[in-house]
Amino acid sequence: MANYDLIIIGSGPAGQRGAIYATKQGKKVAVVERMRSVGGVCINTGTIPSKTMREAVLHLSGYNYRSIYGMNYRVKERITMADLAFRVQHVIKTEVDVTEAQLSRNGVDVLYGVGSFDDPNHVRVTEDGSSQVYEAKNVVIAVGTQPAFSPKVPINGRNIINSDQVLNLPTLPKTIIVVGGGVIGVEYTSMFAALGIRVTLIEKRGRLLEFADQEIIESLSYHLRDSRVTMRLGEEVDSVEELAEGGVVAHLESKKRIQGDALLYAVGRSGNVEALNLANAGIEADSRGRIPVDKDYRTKTPNVFAVGDVIGFPSLASVSMEQGRIAVARAFNDHSAHSDPTYYPYGIYTIPEISFIGKTEEQLTDEDVPYEVGVAYYREIARGQIRGDTTGRLKIVFHRETRHLLGVHIIGEGASELLHIGQAVMALGGKLDYFIDTVFNYPTLAEAYKTAAFNGINRLGRTADGD
Ligand SMILES: Cc1cc2nc3c(=O)[nH]c(=O)nc-3n(C[C@H](O)[C@H](O)[C@H](O)COP(=O)(O)OP(=O)(O)OC[C@H]3O[C@@H](n4cnc5c(N)ncnc54)[C@H](O)[C@@H]3O)c2cc1C
Repeated sequence: MANYDLIIIGSGPAGQRGAIYATKQGKKVAVVERMRSVGGVCINTGTIPSKTMREAVLHLSGYNYRSIYGMNYRVKERITMADLAFRVQHVIKTEVDVTEAQLSRNGVDVLYGVGSFDDPNHVRVTEDGSSQVYEAKNVVIAVGTQPAFSPKVPINGRNIINSDQVLNLPTLPKTIIVVGGGVIGVEYTSMFAALGIRVTLIEKRGRLLEFADQEIIESLSYHLRDSRVTMRLGEEVDSVEELAEGGVVAHLESKKRIQGDALLYAVGRSGNVEALNLANAGIEADSRGRIPVDKDYRTKTPNVFAVGDVIGFPSLASVSMEQGRIAVARAFNDHSAHSDPTYYPYGIYTIPEISFIGKTEEQLTDEDVPYEVGVAYYREIARGQIRGDTTGRLKIVFHRETRHLLGVHIIGEGASELLHIGQAVMALGGKLDYFIDTVFNYPTLAEAYKTAAFNGINRLGRTADGD
C-alpha cells in the first residue's frame, strides 16, 4: 500500500496551496481529485470563468467607455454566448495547465478518482468502479461546495440554471430572472445588465450583500437600477415553472408573477461531503455539508483537517489558499506560518467592482468606536476622467483620535487592486497621515487615497453643521 505524509482530498485553491506548501517542507504528498482536471470550482466553473466572462463582457460591450463615447458605444454589436465562451475556455485551459505543471514540478502525486475515508489514516480512491487505498499520516479535506438545490426550482441546465451552468446557456436571453442577491447572484446580474439583458433580481433579505458597507451597496444598487435591473428585495420564490411556449415564470410568495427567458438560481452552496464517508474518520458535517474546525482548521479527529469552502464563510479562493497553507503547517507542528483574518480583503466583481477591508461604518457605530471617514470621488482624480469612470469612490474609515485606519471601502474601476494599498497600510499599523505625506504616481487611481485622506482631515476640523 502506498503511503504519504499527507493526502489532500480536492485540488481547488485550498488543496493546491496546501499540497505545494507541504512538498516545500520535504513531505510526500498526494492530491485526490474526482474530476478529470485539477483546479476545482475556482478554475473550472466559478472564480476564473466568471471573472473572465466579466472581462469579455466589459470589453465587447464597451461598457467602461460609454461615459466618454456615449451610451450607444459598443465594441461588438451582437455579442453571442460563443464570444464569451471562447475567451473563458482559453483562460480555463491555460490555468489548468499552469496548475498541473505546478503540482508536478513540486512532486505532488495527483490521484484521479473519488476520495473517501476507510479510517482517519486510510483514504480510498475510487475510479470507474475500482478502488485503491492509500495510507496517510495526515489528511486535509478540501472538497469545496456545489450549488445548493431547492425543490421549488427545477434546474434543467437549459433555461433554469445554477451558477455552474451559466456558460451552458445556448444563447444570451433577452430577459433573465436571477434568484439570490449574494455575491454570485449580484455579479452575474451586473454582467447580464451590462450586456443589455433585462434582469429581475430576487432576494429574500431587504438589502444586497449585508456584510458590505451600506453606502457602497446603495451606490451599487443605483448602478444596477440605472442598467435597468429590477430589484425585488424582501421577496421569496414560491415556485418556478417552465412555460410550454418557452420562457420561465417565477411565482413569488407575495403572489407576484415574474416572467423571463431564463432563470439563474444562485442561492447558497453546500459542501461536497456525501462521498467522503466522514463517519469512518469520526467527523460529522452540518446540514449544509460544512465541516466544523478549530482555529488551526483541525477537525475533531486530530490528524484530519478541513479547509476552503467546505468549512463555510467567507468561501473565497483567496482565503481558501491561505487556510490550506496554515492547516498543512499545523499538521506538521509548524506554528511559524500565520495570517490575520482582520486583514483579509473582499473583492466583489460586480460592475462596478467593489472591494473592502476592515470595519464598516455600521460595525463601528455598533461598537461605539469614534471614527471619521474621508471620501474621494474618481471624478476628482485625473485617472478617473481618463479611464471614463467618474462614478467610482474610495472611502477611508479611520479612528477620530489616533487616525489609525479602520477600514477601506471602494466601488469603481480597479477597486480590488487598489484596495491592497489600504490593506498594507492597515496591516502595518499605519495612519491617515501616511497618505498625506506620500507621493503617488500621477495620474493614477491610487491618488484617491491622498484625496480621501485630505477630505478626512477636513472633516475632523468641521463643526456639526459641516462648516
Ligand atoms: C460563480 C463563482 C464566482 C466566484 N468568484 C470568486 C472570486 O471572484 N474571488 C474569490 O476569491 N472566490 C470566488 N469564488 C469562490 C471560490 O471559487 C471558492 O472559494 C474556491 O474555489 C474554494 O476552493 P476550495 O479549494 O475550497 O474548493 P473547490 O475550488 O470547490 O475545489 C474542490 C475540489 O474538490 C473536488 N472534490 C470534491 N469531492 C471530492 C472527493 N470526494 N474526492 C475527490 N475530489 C473531490 C472537486 O471536484 C473540486 O475539484 C467564486 C465561486 C463561484 C461559484
